Amino acid sequence: MTKTSEQSRPQTGAEYLESIANDGREVWIDGERVKDVTTHPAFRNSTRMICRLYDAMHDEANSKILRAPLHDGSGWTHPGFLAPRTLEESIQQTDAYAAWAKIGYGWLGRSPDFIGAAFCPSFDIESEYFGEYASNAKNYARHLQKNVPYIGHAIVNPPIDRSTPETAKDILIRVVKETDAGIYVSGAKVVATGMVVAQEVLIAHHFIAVPDKKYAPVFAIDINTPGVKMICRRSYEQDAAKTSTPFDSPISSRMDENDSILVLDNAFVPWERVFMYDSAAANTFMAVPGQAARGLLQAGVRLATKLDFICGLFMKAAEVGGTKDFRGVQAGIGEAIGFRHMMWALMQAMTRDLQPWQGGYLQPNATHGHAYRVLAGEQYSKVRTNILKHIASGLIYLPSSAKDHLNPEIKPFLDQYARGSNGIDSVERSKILKLLWDTIGSEFGSRHELYEMNYSGSQEQVRVDQYTRSFSNGTADQMLGLVDTCMGEYDLNGWTVPDLINPEG
Ligand SMILES: Cc1cc2nc3c(=O)[nH]c(=O)nc-3n(C[C@H](O)[C@H](O)[C@H](O)COP(=O)(O)OP(=O)(O)OC[C@H]3O[C@@H](n4cnc5c(N)ncnc54)[C@H](O)[C@@H]3O)c2cc1C
Repeated sequence: MTKTSEQSRPQTGAEYLESIANDGREVWIDGERVKDVTTHPAFRNSTRMICRLYDAMHDEANSKILRAPLHDGSGWTHPGFLAPRTLEESIQQTDAYAAWAKIGYGWLGRSPDFIGAAFCPSFDIESEYFGEYASNAKNYARHLQKNVPYIGHAIVNPPIDRSTPETAKDILIRVVKETDAGIYVSGAKVVATGMVVAQEVLIAHHFIAVPDKKYAPVFAIDINTPGVKMICRRSYEQDAAKTSTPFDSPISSRMDENDSILVLDNAFVPWERVFMYDSAAANTFMAVPGQAARGLLQAGVRLATKLDFICGLFMKAAEVGGTKDFRGVQAGIGEAIGFRHMMWALMQAMTRDLQPWQGGYLQPNATHGHAYRVLAGEQYSKVRTNILKHIASGLIYLPSSAKDHLNPEIKPFLDQYARGSNGIDSVERSKILKLLWDTIGSEFGSRHELYEMNYSGSQEQVRVDQYTRSFSNGTADQMLGLVDTCMGEYDLNGWTVPDLINPEG
């Protein structure tokens, strides 16, 4: 990311937009190279939604939530990019994650504060973890804090052949050349969500499939670096622009974080952006202290906000169909609300149940975060299914587009046959149910279910992590101990405790 020297505060929306317009980035969609992501119909409104995040920080009205002084006194930043030192700072941090999440109604999964949460303070506070690259890690954290760039991460190897790394070494990120100035890297990573309109990407590894240093660089790179290519999946924003109106696709038309195939083809990374370069070290990258707990807090707050939106919309949709007083429908909505409450409760627990970190800093309690990680995918699918079950044909008994409502020839028929209950007219009915379909039923909606299920690791991995962590955080001992206490109360000869009475004879 190119910075101006006088920047001692994060960029504004206009500065973000200007920095990514015609900056030489290589983005491909529908067989063509995109000239400017800020004007292309596949991305332009999504970039405007990101601008809103940055502009919100510059709005004085939000300063108590969305601004925190840098710890070196040189300016201010988004609070989520700093580790808290007090409960008050922790509460402000959670409020800041929520304030940004609300701007996207919970549908922006990869807003820049995810990296701010997950990696930024750890790079600073745990810089020793990065060995000979410690000063790079620390300086990079400072850069993220001062500039709050739009940065994403890509850490998973492409799903070409999971059975063995040997058949697919040529897809792995690898160093192809070293010079005094830095390294040249080639390979691919999955899935580069939002990267098409980002400024930087952090490349790391979930695990090093081939134990060889050349496959182990952990680094950050500017998105417009020559050799960085992004090959997009289909764009829902573009689909919406071509085939519908904002009335029909109000969310997918502006919050489509495109998931691209990220290819590096002999791309140059200066040494100062290299954080690890050793397979044993890189295998521990995901365990850098603070990373998991902080990332899960930001992600959980974002999901809780999304559930606020979904539950509100679910209630409105039941009102539209005149089903809101049915017991079964209430149970379906109630289950969704219960999950929403549970998510907020876990996030409150993470915010307040703080663990000491070095240097007087505090971390959220990761145990609550890992509980959310296990529950989220399953529960999100349940909420989605409840909506399909209870709103039923209402999700599809809808005119093709806003233009039908505007056509005087068919308008009267829509007003009569596609109206809502309780005095809700046909336009309002369409508005509510199209919003619900766009977010839950459409391809965008289905992609979000896939996201909630997988984004923090495969469904199996999140459960295995929970199991192994229980042995390191003491909860396994607690659970096993409870069973041992019970089993210690009896043996083959009966009760071994003095207060219980053995059977006679
Ligand atoms: C919408 C979306 C957005 C994403 N965005 C990002 C992003 O921004 N950045 C990023 O880095 N990643 C991103 N991801 C990737 C995400 O982290 C992975 O999807 C997740 O880690 C699961 O990995 P996978 O998809 O490769 O599935 P796999 O790991 O291949 O799992 C598929 C199945 O195979 C099983 N399996 C795989 N390997 C083994 C094995 N060795 N032994 C036994 N069983 C095995 C798993 O348990 C699972 O059942 C995104 C994914 C999605 C779906």
